[in-house]
Amino acid sequence: MSARAAADVLRHVKPSVRQIAAYTLAARNAPIKLNQNENPFEPPEELKRRVVEEVLKRPWSRYPEFDPRELLERLAAFADWTPDGVLAGNGSNELIEALLLVTVGAGTRVVVPETTFTLYALLTRVLGGDLLTVPLGPELEYDAAELRKLRLGVLAPLTIVCSPNNPTGGLMPQDEIARMCEEADGLVVVDEAYHEFSRQSAVPLLKQHKNLVVLRTFSKAMAMAGLRVGYLLAAPELVREINKARLPYNLNFVSQLAALVALDEWETLRAGVQRVIAARDELLHALYRVPGVKPYPSQANFILFELQDADPKAVFDSVLRRGVLIRDVTSYPRLARCLRVSVGSPEQNQAFLEALRHALEEQRFQRGSK
Ligand code: PMP
Repeated sequence: MSARAAADVLRHVKPSVRQIAAYTLAARNAPIKLNQNENPFEPPEELKRRVVEEVLKRPWSRYPEFDPRELLERLAAFADWTPDGVLAGNGSNELIEALLLVTVGAGTRVVVPETTFTLYALLTRVLGGDLLTVPLGPELEYDAAELRKLRLGVLAPLTIVCSPNNPTGGLMPQDEIARMCEEADGLVVVDEAYHEFSRQSAVPLLKQHKNLVVLRTFSKAMAMAGLRVGYLLAAPELVREINKARLPYNLNFVSQLAALVALDEWETLRAGVQRVIAARDELLHALYRVPGVKPYPSQANFILFELQDADPKAVFDSVLRRGVLIRDVTSYPRLARCLRVSVGSPEQNQAFLEALRHALEEQRFQRGSK
């Protein structure tokens, strides 16, 4: 195919898609990886063995169950919701996609705070929806009043809130979520990917509010990001519709088994979550004491921090040279001076702090010698 034909081929792609920057992550590696909000504590070996032994017994030539009944029932019991109000997905990303596929068409108004997880905006644009954003407050907290005002003003069919928010770590207060659900019947989607690291969940509100959708994942607290399991909780009639956009057999049987075992072993995994919470609070306090660094309080397993004078990209590179990979979020709206670090084990956090202090000293020295 000629170069010209290759260029022409792109005219078949929707213009709204061609304008979007892809959701990518540079493939970098480092001995200490604190860039993807993963859990630093692997599930115990016995837990993995239970899954593997079960996997060996099952026929690999057969499709998994069409509706993973057992998993849906167990997820419902775990979340204290009804099984016909649960969908399981190949990561919660897939369920965000299924939800938007059935709700967003050309011109559908979707309200999201800015800055937040980028996938909501990306998928809304791919589907031709009209993305409306509400800036965060001065301390990067949610501005619930503005969000409610915009949502009511445009009668938005969909409002998506990530709580705790990635990448800032803040929560949307529970009473504000309830108020949004009451004030207008547009769907309110609460992405709770990190809720286990906070003490809040919107799930108890599902009973009163049929327009509430809650998304959760096994990728963070459950330490199973590699196995791709997420779930969605909502009113059964809504779940039946969202289910129509879910690909058949989306969740492979290995992941289903692993999710069941993780639910069985939640008490063990929960101990890991407690360790992450303790490590987060310690890291936060340590960051408060680093001159020139302003960390934002976090209810998740990561911390966003702002650099008062230092160049964030230079700090990112310097920290990486010392073997610690964190996340450069400088291209996000409002975060031009910020970096994000996932909470690791206490040893990893220590290595990060040392690399950060070193990077800041390096910069001070460079500025001084100019
Ligand atoms: N929501 C948020 C807010 C996230 O940060 C992430 C992962 N980065 C996801 C959803 C996707 O999680 P999953 O691995 O379940 O697809």
